[in-house]
Amino acid sequence: KLQVEDLTVGFGHGRRARTVLHGVSTGVRAGQTLGLVGESGSGKSTIAKAIVGIHPVRAGRVLLDGADLTGLGRRELAAVRRRVQLVSQDPYASLNPRMTVGQAVAEAVDPARADARKHAAAVERWLETVALDGSAAGRYPHEFSGGQRQRIAVARALAVGPEVLIADEITSALDASVQAEVLNLLEELRRSLSLTMVFISHDLAVVRHVSDEVAVLRHGELVEQGPAHDVYRAPQHPYTRSLLASAP
Ligand code: ATP
Ligand code: MG
Repeated sequence: KLQVEDLTVGFGHGRRARTVLHGVSTGVRAGQTLGLVGESGSGKSTIAKAIVGIHPVRAGRVLLDGADLTGLGRRELAAVRRRVQLVSQDPYASLNPRMTVGQAVAEAVDPARADARKHAAAVERWLETVALDGSAAGRYPHEFSGGQRQRIAVARALAVGPEVLIADEITSALDASVQAEVLNLLEELRRSLSLTMVFISHDLAVVRHVSDEVAVLRHGELVEQGPAHDVYRAPQHPYTRSLLASAP
């Protein structure tokens, strides 16, 4: 179970200081998918990055099965990071452009001894999981299409063996058919690996399709959370209503 309690995140100091998340509390039960929606700039990616420890947290806690991930030492943090993987909206944030796909996946499997040849079997298996053949291993991320690149980023994240996968707008830059392909793949993997997922998107239709629970973020505050069915059928907050009304 992943819980976020009263999470406050800000950037800058002094007169430049700006709070981006104002005490956000949310969570997702093991094996379920939380859909996180909100307009551009509402703080969705900031939540994702705070959960995995990329952004320092000003106040609040991030709990994984009850253990607080904020304020962990470097070593402990490294272990925890393996349990929660973030695939970002920018695949180059998850994939090093100078590493072959095989090296990237091998490093995910075994960071201490990342060797594409040594881990060839595991690399091939993970690439197959995301419907790429083994020849992808010798190529670089830029040699793939956007959809393929996102699938590679997913393979790399899963090769780490996480319990929680945070997918931050990973289908947003893709055209509709490729988007559906990646979504179906994600759903299949979630079930077969019993992953817990946080699915971030500004696309309400997509979120509805994949989420058990939905949380609505506005200007860094959570205005509503509930079972997807309820939120879409009978939104409680006026902002959620306006979001749904303006959705295509
Ligand atoms: P989008 O849908 O466009 O991805 P988002 O909901 O993910 O938007 P965030 O990326 O979380 O939004 O950004 C929320 C706010 O925090 C924005 O106003 C952004 O400018 C600010 N912000 C994010 N990262 C930083 C940073 N490293 N330094 C300063 N401000 C930041
Ligand atoms: Mg974002």
